[in-house]
Amino acid sequence: MNTIKTINRENHPCFNFGARNKFGRIHLPIAPKCNIQCNFCNRKYSCVNESRPGVTSAVLSPAQAIVYFDMIMEKIPNISVMGIAGPGDAFANVEETLETIHRVREKYPFMLFCLSTNGLNILPYFDELIEFGLTHLTITVSAVKKEIGAKIYAWVSDNGRTYYGEEAAELLIGRQLEAVKAFSKAGIVVKVNFILLPGINDQHAEEVAREVSEAGANIFNCMPVYPVEGTPFANIREPKGIEVFKIREKCSKYIKQMTHCQRCRADAAGLLKDDNSEKTQDLLSVALAVSADLVT
Ligand code: SF4
Ligand code: SF4
Repeated sequence: MNTIKTINRENHPCFNFGARNKFGRIHLPIAPKCNIQCNFCNRKYSCVNESRPGVTSAVLSPAQAIVYFDMIMEKIPNISVMGIAGPGDAFANVEETLETIHRVREKYPFMLFCLSTNGLNILPYFDELIEFGLTHLTITVSAVKKEIGAKIYAWVSDNGRTYYGEEAAELLIGRQLEAVKAFSKAGIVVKVNFILLPGINDQHAEEVAREVSEAGANIFNCMPVYPVEGTPFANIREPKGIEVFKIREKCSKYIKQMTHCQRCRADAAGLLKDDNSEKTQDLLSVALAVSADLVT
């Protein structure tokens, strides 16, 4: 049974290295669609920004997510943070995202609340998120130059129109930096995930770190790409540990570095170091058996 009774921002296991072995997180997999297409992502599996491909499982309705949440809180101690990390993007699934947050907040007012997004469509929901008590935000920014972004994003869809090439990248990058600025100014702890793609953006990492730091981001997570079958970057070289280390060292001139990311699944629960996948799979199956429209 969870016994945490106060909100303490220091208790986020991803944003605070010292908290990683004491507090756990729960990801609620309620957001299947995405509004952009990264060339390293195959959504048949899950968002590689926040999960290892191929090991994602069910997508839950908001009502099922609460059932899952309650069971996790009973079975896994010291969950301090609830997050939505896909498997697509939280703001390509706005209705489900807001309903889930609303339900969780009502039941668990002391839970840290964390979102992970590509940043394209979060700003229209700024007021609601602040009101719901958002505490931590992750935005994935893998380029701040449109020429480099155009190699990473196949398309960006916004307001019923699809953008390609540099136009798409420019739109996305602009929204990402605006979101970093707005949320950090409002006191939200902002992490930037940077997907390291050898030959594409490895020489660009420092520039991204500098710009997002100037925009107000607090922490930078350089994540080596995980090549996924069936994507344009399926054969990209997976960066070696030493390369990642060197890039983090360079970027640390501008912004604090996260070094303990586990590239978790979209339905992960518990301490970062614990693989609770069997337990979470069982509980997800129970939640899935509940009516998708259940009123709790
Ligand atoms: Fe995939 Fe996430 Fe990129 Fe969307 S933002 S295409 S889910 S990696
Ligand atoms: Fe934390 Fe990284 Fe896992 Fe996200 S993917 S929950 S940042 S450890």
